[in-house]
Amino acid sequence: MERAGINCSSLFGQDRRRKDCHPERKILHFSDSAICHDKRMNQSYITYEIEVILYVMILKNVCSIESMQEMIEDFNEDDCVKNIYKILRLEEKEYLPHYVTINECLSRLDTTELEKIRKGMVYNLIRKKSFDESKFLGSYWLVIVDATQLFCFRKRHCEHCLTKTMNKGTEEEKTIYYHQVLEAKIVLGDDLVISIATEFIENETENVSKQDCERTSFKRLAESLKRMYPIMPICLLGDSLYACEPIFEVCRKNKWEFLIRYKDGSIPTLAEEYEEIKGMGETEEEVVESGL
Ligand SMILES: [Zn+2]
Repeated sequence: MERAGINCSSLFGQDRRRKDCHPERKILHFSDSAICHDKRMNQSYITYEIEVILYVMILKNVCSIESMQEMIEDFNEDDCVKNIYKILRLEEKEYLPHYVTINECLSRLDTTELEKIRKGMVYNLIRKKSFDESKFLGSYWLVIVDATQLFCFRKRHCEHCLTKTMNKGTEEEKTIYYHQVLEAKIVLGDDLVISIATEFIENETENVSKQDCERTSFKRLAESLKRMYPIMPICLLGDSLYACEPIFEVCRKNKWEFLIRYKDGSIPTLAEEYEEIKGMGETEEEVVESGL
């Protein structure tokens, strides 16, 4: 594999010149410099286009295959290999890349390049208007923000780990090290959400006085969401953790509407106002709509 230059910068530019190319290829075609080599048993090298590497990984997740080893065993059936190259409209090879090759390639791939592809795919979906019915009140794309834990370790894994100490000061004191990711997901249907922006929740260094958290990382996520989708009409959905003025401010600044889950004690002043309005006899529905 070439050490430098695994990028997809020519992805869209190159395809604009390829008038005959299939629409899906626009998303998956990479420059020829973005290639990976795989050393097989006969000691010769096989060169794989990066779209094969990424497509195999997407399929692995779509098929809910948990291990890379299992993926290689399942996919390296003759028919499966043939079909994958056919779908990607690439010259057929005897094998799919080995997972060691895939891992090595992904570890060198600039993640912002993947973000560009994701953005291209989301824009495509929106432009086709196929999911317009899922817009809230016919106008707003519902975007859920929520954090997910990725890994948890008993020992420090890296300098960016978040830490949590339980039973502090007792014999059972225990510290865990973990990683979280905050995602913005667009709602395209009842059971269909797609990630459109990602921000890792992690500490800058090992000895930070205040750890990174969901609310802080939300500000970074909001910046990239606005940068990538500047005019998308968004209604943000969040749990009660987001019920605070700084988050509302970010939404207002970005001209996003928002629906935040309310939990007892979240914002006492707002709760008071709500009770007052309720006491005046207005319905819940009217209250929700007047907020938009
Ligand atoms: Zn770590």
